[in-house]
Amino acid sequence: MENRTGPGQRDQRLKDAYPDLVAEITELLRASQPGDPLADSIVDLPFYGVCSCSPTCEILLTKPSPVVAPWIVVLEREGEAVFFLGIDQSQATVSSVEVLDGRDLTGCLSLSS
Ligand SMILES: [Zn+2]
Repeated sequence: MENRTGPGQRDQRLKDAYPDLVAEITELLRASQPGDPLADSIVDLPFYGVCSCSPTCEILLTKPSPVVAPWIVVLEREGEAVFFLGIDQSQATVSSVEVLDGRDLTGCLSLSS
């Protein structure tokens, strides 16, 4: 496993780490909740690495530490849940993204130092 630290790591954004994922979430949000400004916020979300609570955890953190989200938005594709978005108290910020379709997220594990 790579253990890379480099400049700009603190400013890492989710879209830099997972551009496809961000595009997908934005698209699904727009489709399921037209006009919801949440969709426009995804592209600007910071990224704090993959949750390290367990080796198989597929939660991407967009807050510095894991928080229990009071709200969850479920995004579905063709009737199957693909993402859980944890939404914070203000209901305006995504605090975590749980990826449910089992895709490989290990490309960015080097960030979770
Ligand atoms: Zn976790």
